[in-house]
Amino acid sequence: MTLKVAVVRDERYLVHQTGLVHPERPGRLKGIYRMLDKEFPEGLIQIEPEPVTLENLELVHTPGYIRKILKTSEREFTNLAPDTPASSQSYLAAWLAVGGCIKGLQALLAGRCDVCFCLVRPPGHHAQADRAGGFCIFNNLAITAKYAIERHGFRRILIVDWDIHHGNGIQEIFFEEDSVLYFSTHYLGWYPHTGDWSEVGSGRGLGYTVNVPVPKDVTDQDIVFLYYKILGPIMKSYKPELILVSAGFDGHHRDPLGRTQLTEQAFRWLTELVLELRDAVKSPPLLFSLEGGYDVGALSGCVREVLDVLTWKERRPRVPLMLSPKANDLVEKAQAAHRKYGVWAE
Ligand SMILES: [Zn+2]
Repeated sequence: MTLKVAVVRDERYLVHQTGLVHPERPGRLKGIYRMLDKEFPEGLIQIEPEPVTLENLELVHTPGYIRKILKTSEREFTNLAPDTPASSQSYLAAWLAVGGCIKGLQALLAGRCDVCFCLVRPPGHHAQADRAGGFCIFNNLAITAKYAIERHGFRRILIVDWDIHHGNGIQEIFFEEDSVLYFSTHYLGWYPHTGDWSEVGSGRGLGYTVNVPVPKDVTDQDIVFLYYKILGPIMKSYKPELILVSAGFDGHHRDPLGRTQLTEQAFRWLTELVLELRDAVKSPPLLFSLEGGYDVGALSGCVREVLDVLTWKERRPRVPLMLSPKANDLVEKAQAAHRKYGVWAE
């Protein structure tokens, strides 16, 4: 079946200026938008974002923190964290980044599309309730998940985070909840150094945070094998009503920050696998939101692969799975960390 694929894009995301040498710069989205015009001149549904409402922003962020972000409009530059600058118009891009994800979800719920990719910035997965960090100002997907729960009655949301950095903000916000299952693969040696095996959630959320720290030499075959072996059982037992993907591409081997062994093909396979697993659980709405990825060529190449899979017109080929001893070892560690909670590992 051909999927109706939408993208959220807007030139106003470029007004968030981060200085001359910062990796999270407007050129990232410019490169992706150029690629979209060239490679997908028609066929993608375009969604124009609106700024998120204050009411929805407060589902995750504190009023004091929101005021602090608004105040950044009064100065040319503000440092929100050592690595997270804001220019006088960054607040607008931040409001639109969350608003774009919510608008994407609304389009999914209205049946306007089956899948939506929100090509937004600033990214979100490191942002905490009252703190910016890791180039993130508001937690785009955490707010989208809360919005789905509070305003639309969703009870089981899966967030898949394949950015090479751990999404500490998302983890923290849902650590004690079972309405969101957070699954992340990341390299522990990079910022923010959270996301170890032992971080599995607490209280009602015990077992609903699944961290898989991967080594730096993880390959395309390894990553797809371990997703198949871990995300497969998670999807089967959790039966998500909505799937959100924290789509960061800084694991790419040319990325100046992440740099593992991964190529564009890894993200192609992961997208195929997510679609395959989604088909087996009644095809819930699926929304991707851009996180990291700092080599403009590699980044737009990865986004192109994801969109190419999503817009595939014929029956999709099955994801090639090759047994990987390295990945098998990680799967066993994940099962050992989670067996006693019984959410997905037995
Ligand atoms: Zn990242």
